[in-house]
Amino acid sequence: MSLKLPFDNTYVRVLSGAFVEWQPARVPAPRLLYLNHSLAQALGLDLQGSDEEALAAAFSGNVLPAGAQPIAQAYAGHQFGGFSPSLGDGRALLVGEVIDRAGRRRDIAFKGSGRTPFSRGGDGKAAVGPMLREVLVGEAMHALGIPTTRALAVVATGEPVLRESVLPGAVLTRVAASHLRVGTFEYFAARGELDKLRRLADYAIARHDPALAPSPSRYLDLLRAVALRQARLIAQWMSVGFIHGVMNTDNMTLSGETIDYGPCAFLEAYDPATVFSSIDRQGRYAFGNQPAIARWNLTRLAEALLPLMHEDPDAAVPLAVEVLEAFADDYERAALAGLRRKLGLRASAGAGISDAEDTQLAADWLALLHAQRVDFTLAWRHLAATAEGADAPLLALFTDAAALADWRARWRRRCAADDAVAGVASAVAGQERARAMRGVNPRIIPRNHQVEAALAAASERGDLVPFNALLTALVQPYSDDPALAPYAEPAPAEVTACYKTFCGT
Ligand code: AMP
Ligand code: MG
Repeated sequence: MSLKLPFDNTYVRVLSGAFVEWQPARVPAPRLLYLNHSLAQALGLDLQGSDEEALAAAFSGNVLPAGAQPIAQAYAGHQFGGFSPSLGDGRALLVGEVIDRAGRRRDIAFKGSGRTPFSRGGDGKAAVGPMLREVLVGEAMHALGIPTTRALAVVATGEPVLRESVLPGAVLTRVAASHLRVGTFEYFAARGELDKLRRLADYAIARHDPALAPSPSRYLDLLRAVALRQARLIAQWMSVGFIHGVMNTDNMTLSGETIDYGPCAFLEAYDPATVFSSIDRQGRYAFGNQPAIARWNLTRLAEALLPLMHEDPDAAVPLAVEVLEAFADDYERAALAGLRRKLGLRASAGAGISDAEDTQLAADWLALLHAQRVDFTLAWRHLAATAEGADAPLLALFTDAAALADWRARWRRRCAADDAVAGVASAVAGQERARAMRGVNPRIIPRNHQVEAALAAASERGDLVPFNALLTALVQPYSDDPALAPYAEPAPAEVTACYKTFCGT
C-alpha cells in the first residue's frame, strides 16, 4: 500500500516551461534509516498501517503516494560568481505540495532519486553520509529557531554510489516552504522569456507574499520582501556561527529558508575568515563574507526582475538599488538585535545608549574572541554564567584574562544601565539575564568531529547509534542536561585545523 498525502500541486499546474515531468529511479533494496515523526505529524502524513518496508518503498520513490506528480525543476545559477544558464534538478525531484496542519503549503521533494534531463555529467545519486548530514544540521538549525528546509526521511537504496570511494547510496525526502530560488528567476531572465518570468514572479508572490499581489509595484515589493527575509536569515546564521559553504544563487531561496546542506559547518574558534569547504579555494563563502554574498545574490535577483518592474529596465535600476541598500540596514538591524539578545541587553532606548555604542561593545567582544581564538559557542554560553557571577568558565577560555577583564567591566556597566531603567536589583537582574542568555546562546551545536564520527559509523558500519544520539542532543541546543556534556565540547584543535567539507556529496 502507498502512503496517504493530500497533494495539491500548484507548481505543475501554473508554471509550464519551468520543469520536466520525470520519475524517480527504482532502487534495489530500500531500507529506512531515518523518519522525522514530528515533521510527519505536522504534515498530516498518515502513517497508520505503514510498516518499515512500506515507508522505505515510499521514501525511496519506488512506490509513489497517490497524487504525486514528480518533476525536475529548471533553474540557472551563479556558482562561485560564474553564471550557468541551465542547472536544474540534476538529482532531485519535486514530488508534490501539501498543506500542513498549520495551513502552510509545503514542497515534498526527493534528493538522490536518479538522473534527470538536468544531470549533465552527474549520476543523479546521493550517498548515506551527506543525506544524514542534512538531517543533523537541518534539525539543529530548526531547533535553533532558524528558518530551514527539513528532512522528513532518509532511505538507504542498497546501491553503491561512486565518489572518491564507493559509498552506500541514499534518497532524502526534503520538506520546504518552496524550492523557488534566485536561480529560478535567472533561468527565465537569461532566456528573455518575460511572460514565463512574470508568471513565476506572480506565483512566488501568491505563495510567499500574497498581500503584495494587488500592489502596482509588486515585483519591486517582492524583491524587498525577499531581501528582508534574507537579511534576517543571514543575521541568524551569523549569530550561531553557521557557515553555509556554497551560497550560489541556486542555493538561495525566495522563502528565506536555509537550503542545501552540502559543505556547511559551524565555527569552532571565532574567525570571520573561516572556510571549511574544500572547493571554496578563494574563501568566497567564508563565514564573515556571508552578508555581502547575500547582497550580491539579491543583486542578481534584482537584475532578473528589472524587466518586470518597468518597461524600460534602466528606469527601474534606482528603485532596485534602493532596496539593495535597505538590505544592508535590515541586516545591521537584525544583527544588532540578535547581538543584544546574546549579550543579555535590552534595546537601548530606555538606558539612553546609542546603537553605535552597543554595536561597538559587540564588535569588541568578537575581536577578543578572534584575537585569542576562543570557541565561539562556549564563549557566549559562559558569558551567560558570568551574568550571575560565575566567572571561572569564561576566564578559562581566554589566554589573556586582562583584555577580557576590561571588556567585561564595560559590559557590566552596560547591563547595570539596563537594570537601572528597569528598576531591578542587580542580583535578581543577573539571574534573569543569565536565564535569558541561556535561552538564546546554544550550548550544543553540530560540532564537526561529532558529525563526522556519527556519519562515518552510519556510512561505513551501518551503525546508527552515534547518529541517533547526536541528533537527540542537537534538538536540545539550550539544554544544560549533564548527560549531553560530550556534545558541548569543541572539536580538538588539530581536527578543526585540517577539517574539510566536500560539496558533493
Ligand atoms: P548543489 O551544489 O547540490 O546545489 O548542486 C548544484 C547543481 O549540480 C544542481 O543543478 C544539482 O542538481 C547538480 N548536481 C549535484 N550533484 C549531482 C549529481 N550527483 N548528479 C547530477 N546532478 C548533480
Ligand atoms: Mg543546490
